[in-house]
Amino acid sequence: MEFERLANVFKNLEDKSERLVKVDILSKFILEIDKDSIKETFMLIGGNIFYPWEDKDTEIAEKLTIKALSIATGYDKQYIENLFVKTGDMGLVAEKLVLEKKQRSIFTKKLSIKDVYDTFRSIGLLGGEGAQDKKIRYLANLFVSSTPLEARYIARLSLEDLKIGVGEGIIIDSIAKAFNFRSEDIEKAYFILNDFGEVVKLILEKGSEAIYNISPILGRPIKVMLAIKADSAKEAFDVVGRPAMIEYKYDGFRVQIHKKGNEISLWTRRLENVTDQFPDVIEFIKECLPMDKDFLVEGEIVGYHDRKYLPFQKISQRIRRKYNIEKMVKEIPVVVRLFDIIYYDNSLLNVPFKERRDLLKSIVKEDENKISVSEGKITDSEEEANNFFNDAIRNGLEGIMFKKLDAKYQPGRRVGYMVKLKPVKESIDVVITGAEWGEGKRGGWLTSYIISILDRETGKLLEVGEVSSGLKEKKESEDDITFEDMTKILKPLIREEDGKMVKIIPKIVIEVLYDEIQKSPKYSSGFALRFPRFVRLRPDKSIEDIDDINRLYDLYRNQKS
Ligand code: ATP
Repeated sequence: MEFERLANVFKNLEDKSERLVKVDILSKFILEIDKDSIKETFMLIGGNIFYPWEDKDTEIAEKLTIKALSIATGYDKQYIENLFVKTGDMGLVAEKLVLEKKQRSIFTKKLSIKDVYDTFRSIGLLGGEGAQDKKIRYLANLFVSSTPLEARYIARLSLEDLKIGVGEGIIIDSIAKAFNFRSEDIEKAYFILNDFGEVVKLILEKGSEAIYNISPILGRPIKVMLAIKADSAKEAFDVVGRPAMIEYKYDGFRVQIHKKGNEISLWTRRLENVTDQFPDVIEFIKECLPMDKDFLVEGEIVGYHDRKYLPFQKISQRIRRKYNIEKMVKEIPVVVRLFDIIYYDNSLLNVPFKERRDLLKSIVKEDENKISVSEGKITDSEEEANNFFNDAIRNGLEGIMFKKLDAKYQPGRRVGYMVKLKPVKESIDVVITGAEWGEGKRGGWLTSYIISILDRETGKLLEVGEVSSGLKEKKESEDDITFEDMTKILKPLIREEDGKMVKIIPKIVIEVLYDEIQKSPKYSSGFALRFPRFVRLRPDKSIEDIDDINRLYDLYRNQKS
């Protein structure tokens, strides 16, 4: 299929703001997609080139896109940059330039969806000497062959922001509408496969029934089941029913462990591969789990030393670490506390939780310094739950979980099968979308951070405030995050500078506390956090995991009542 057709659909989606209209447009288009480019088309609709588990980025910075446009259209780089600063949208700049193109190429062929996707993929895979120049050339070639409207979306794809107001929710509803399914069934299939193209292929090739019987693919991460929050044991029991399993809530990071044949892989909830970062955990698995079976188990990797649990900040350093791993293994010892099993020679997604947990307990050779099943018990008593909660806090844990005994495993959703009870004031997870350079003795550091939440319907990020407290000027303890640390993290992500303010590519998720949520016209969410403060970095979370506008609204309403 020609890319021009997709560009027209993108334009149509961009021009319409109503969700139902977008779903209508997209669902009709889905029925038109060529069978041999389903994967590529859905990747581009989602604005993606790589899957999260491929650990790859197209990495085309603004400067490269400007250079490519300059080569393709003959306009001066400075002129293009000025246009970009003025409009703030590389897509519109590219469209205008291609329309006025000075250097018409002699021969242009029509771009196909596959051409565009494959070119971006090649760009992302380039490395080594001369890679930069090649990337620019590949991108320039796309612009040379593109129509003005195609150029708009090619430029935006290169900056990973299509601006068509289509998030996962709309794609799910559109597939459901196109093939006559309930959205929840498509959503569940997607949360297992994490590939819209594959979901649609399955429907087309294997028929509708296949959607209800999808099994996890070992070696490819699934979106994990999430918990909702309760303020008391009673409230938690009201959600999960009595009796329920109560378990310690460990303060580490969640890991999915896949084992197929001889391959063991570890995945975060962001669907990132962290196998290489945890050679110690791989050894524990070989010792404590049955190596003659294929399985997918889930648990928490927690820092543990001298029979004490370490705070999350400590092990968060291990998630990103790609070098000196052996040293980290010694300095920050970890253990695994398993709490679920999703595959054991067969998919267990539809098996009740109690049975899954019993099975888990029966197959793990427990060793508290390596791997054990999470501490837990079945009870219907609030008093017992409260005592268990107090024990958990005394042992340096985060709180407790309540789990519904007969619940299926529901990938990717907060459905009330799992409820968490924590003592601390509610924090929220946000992404940094902007920052401000400091002054005086804070000069040279980014010291204030614009934070945003998600509108899940449209995929848009909405600002909720600006954080500058909670970070340190100087490290007092090893776990402190300083302005300098944060500047190092954010500087490579600067997208645009305007005086002291910079726009940041939204990748860094942080947890913040605040005193109150107020309605405010100052930020695009319509809310503002009063006295927001930085709590910690959340490298285990991606943009899709941050809090959304619905939750902010709930928190706002709850505080009023
Ligand atoms: P939080 O920020 O409170 O950790 P979250 O947003 O990371 O929450 P939730 O799904 O809301 O994720 O809370 C459950 C998280 O608690 C799980 O993702 C998991 O990482 C962690 N956890 C620790 N112990 C357990 C346990 N026994 N059972 C389930 N999850 C556990």
